[in-house]
Order: sequence, then C-alpha cells, then structure tokens
Amino acid sequence: MFAKKSKQAPSAAALDKYKIPRDQHSISRQDIDENALKVLYRLHNAGFRALLVGGGVRDLLLGLKPKDFDITTDATPEEVKALFRNCRLIGRRFRLAHILFGREVIEVATFRGHHDEKDAQDKQKVKQSQGGMLLRDNVYGELDEDAERRDFTVNALYYDIADFSIYDFCGGMNDLAERKLTLIGDPEVRYREDPVRMMRAIRFAAKLDLTISEQCAEPIRRLAPLLQDIPAARHFDEVIKLLLSGQGLATYRLLKEYKLLQMLFPILFKEGEDDKANAIIEQALIDTDQRIADGKRVTPAYIYAIMLWYPLEQRAQEMSFESGMDYHDAFMLAMNEVLSIQVKTIAIPKRFTAAVRDIWILQQRLPRFGGKRAQRVYQHIKFRAAFDFLSLRAKVEQSTELAELTAWWQEYQLHNKLPEHNYSHKTNKASEHKPGEHKGDGKKPYKKRKYSNAKRKAKAISSND
Ligand code: ATP
Ligand code: MG
Repeated sequence: MFAKKSKQAPSAAALDKYKIPRDQHSISRQDIDENALKVLYRLHNAGFRALLVGGGVRDLLLGLKPKDFDITTDATPEEVKALFRNCRLIGRRFRLAHILFGREVIEVATFRGHHDEKDAQDKQKVKQSQGGMLLRDNVYGELDEDAERRDFTVNALYYDIADFSIYDFCGGMNDLAERKLTLIGDPEVRYREDPVRMMRAIRFAAKLDLTISEQCAEPIRRLAPLLQDIPAARHFDEVIKLLLSGQGLATYRLLKEYKLLQMLFPILFKEGEDDKANAIIEQALIDTDQRIADGKRVTPAYIYAIMLWYPLEQRAQEMSFESGMDYHDAFMLAMNEVLSIQVKTIAIPKRFTAAVRDIWILQQRLPRFGGKRAQRVYQHIKFRAAFDFLSLRAKVEQSTELAELTAWWQEYQLHNKLPEHNYSHKTNKASEHKPGEHKGDGKKPYKKRKYSNAKRKAKAISSND
C-alpha cells in the first residue's frame, strides 16, 4: 500500500563519495549483536539492501555498547514480514517492522524519502498538521534520501552488511570527532515536524556528552511549547528514555535549562523554581543513575512520586486551608488532582499511578509507627520505596523529625528481616523497568501481570488500616 518510492536508486558511483571503506573505520562484525546480524544477512541474501543505522553505528564508533541495533532496508515492511516468521508490523505514523527474538526486538525501517506534491495529497502516506508537524511519514525512498529524513548527523551513519563499509551523507563522522550534535536540515522546520526531536537533542547530549550545536540549541526554548501537541502516550515512552537510562541527572538539568521540563511536568515549578523540589529530584536521579550503573532495576513510579511530591504537599495544604478540611482528606483529594493533571501530559499507565499513590500514602503512614501498625506498613509491597523516599525527604528538608523517623525505621528493619524479595524497589514486578528492555511501542516491558499474593495481601492491609 505504501510501496511507492520517490526516485530511482542512486548508482554505486554516486554513493561512492559518501563511502568509508572497512579498513578506514573501527566497526567490526564482532561488535554487532548476533540477532541484528541474522536480520541483516537474511535481507541481504534475499537481494535487499540492508544496513545498520542510528544508535548502533553511532555508539560503536564512540566505543560504547549500543542499547539496541536498528536496521534500514529498501524492502517494504510487507516484504520484511514475508521474510521473517517472528515479525510484526507496527505504527501508523511511522510504519516499521519489529523482528522478535525472545525479549529482544530488532527494528527494521524502510528507507524514507522526500515528500512530493502527490504524496502530500495522499493521506495514507503523509499527514501534516497546520503547524508543520508530521502526523504520518510513510513515503519510501532511497538510501541517500533516508539519511536526510533522520534527526541528527551522528544518527545518520550507515554500516552496510554488503561490504562492511560506512556511509556518511550528512557529516556525522566529523561531528562525532568534534563531539557535536547537529540536526540535519533547518532546525526550526525539523523541530516543528517532530517536536520530540528537541527532547532527543537533550537525551543524546546528556548520554553521549555531546555539545548541542548553537544553531540546533537556539530554537529549543522558543519552540518548547510544541511539546504540548505530542500525544501523552508518546511522552510516557520518551520520559522513560530521558530519566531512566542512566544519565537522568544530566538530562534533567538540560531539560530544565532548555525549558522542556515545564512542558512535561506543568505542575512542577509552576510558581518558579523550588529548591526543595529540585534537591529531592536531583538526589533521586543520582540514586537512580547509580542503580542503573549497578545493573539494578528501577521503577518509573518512584521518579514520578518524587517529581510531584512537593507540588502535591502544597496543593494539599491549600485545599485544607481553603476548605477547612482535615489535612489527610485534603491530601487524598490533592493526590487525585495532581495525578489527573499529570496524566494529561504524560500518559502514566494505571499500574504506575497506583504505585505512586502507594508511595505517597505510605508517607502518611510511616510516622504512625508502633506495634502492629509498624508491622503492617513494613509488609507493604512499596515499603522499601517509601522508606527510601522518606530518607530523601529527611535529607532535603534537613528535618530532625524526619531524620529521627528514618533512623527509627532503619533500626526496625535491622531487627525485623523481611524475605530478600521485599528488599528493593523490585518487589512489584509490573512496575519496574530494566534499562535496555524498552523498545518502540512502549507496551512490551510493562506487560500487565496478575497481582501476586503478596500484593493482594498488601492491598488488603492498606485498606484495613
Ligand atoms: P538509542 O541509543 O536511544 O537507541 P537511537 O539514535 O538508536 O538511540 P532510536 O530511537 O532507536 O534512537 O532511533 C533509531 C534511529 O532512527 C535514530 O538514530 C535516527 O536516525 C532515527 N530516528 C528516531 N527518531 C527520530 C525522529 N523523531 N526523527 C528523525 N529520525 C529519528
Ligand atoms: Mg536505537
């Protein structure tokens, strides 16, 4: 249905000037994931062009271990599907093939092309909003055109399985050497086409320690409000990549500096920057980055609970003051309000908002310790996350009361050992995230699981208390 190509394939001679032969670059097949090689070879043996592109090539050239390997080809998604039994086609906006190897997903994209007048009339292929945002981009093209449709020059380097050479159409090699992040084409047009590219600029700058080129940095603050037009579900996936990929602190600082954070978290820093909120977020991200470096699991719920905590407290106080309501009741209402505002921007799935609520409610229950109550709180599935949260609050607020409470619970844990599985943020499997698991449609790693007995028990306990 979308198989039309916008021009003839360029001749080998035309491509030659962009080619870096095998003996002039450092990528070896040994560095490439076995499944990615299988996909490359099967496409190649079936007579298609097959090249590695994006983070796989970029990170190998930087001497880093790629998070995933993306492949591009002149085969259409339907042709790719016909070659692989373990393939599913995804995406309407940007149609792609996913080849599944157990938990690993290799993404195969057909070369994208330029849009001509006729394409613009065909809503199946291209759809653009009034502001220039590409709502659909399914015009197929040739290798050199594909490069120009990509975002940054360092992401438009291709490793060709046919002769192990690299193609560099946009100057990505030079930018890598200079550690510079440059958008391909006119930055303003490219950000308007897809505002998520602004967040990607921040993500790559933080992750790879690259400098965002001046011409690429300049429009970001101005165009930041365009992020409001991005579907909330896409934001959820992007925010995970931003904050839970190991460089959360650096990324957070850049997001703030470039005024993107405020677009994602409209309730945070609504009345200007708040030192306490900033300090707790920074500390939580330092801890999260460390956990990821140690290969431990992390949960989006913890970060969301942290990000929204002080706005929640403030709202609860206002509500209680305005209506004379008991603080506890106001807190519960404020919790609903804060979350319902937040999910309009970032579609946090219910299982995570449930965990966020648990962590928050436990902040109310941790101070009421003693006897059976302490035991019930301690056995809660989110106890550990809530305790870590409490210690952060004690540190940030420099509160003697909270410090004493933290010390009390510290002591309690020493004397009341729980089974090992209760000792990390890891307990609620459905709400955890293992870096590197995430790919594409955002659904896979968060498969809904049935409540475990422990969780059911904890729920019963929390509703009894
Ligand atoms: P990561 O290490 O996070 O996987 P990546 O560069 O591989 O980084 P992906 O999201 O996997 O990022 O995308 C693969 C490639 O697809 C990118 O390198 C880029 O060439 C292209 N791409 C992805 N998103 C966009 C976008 N919004 N606009 C243009 N090109 C994009
Ligand atoms: Mg990638």
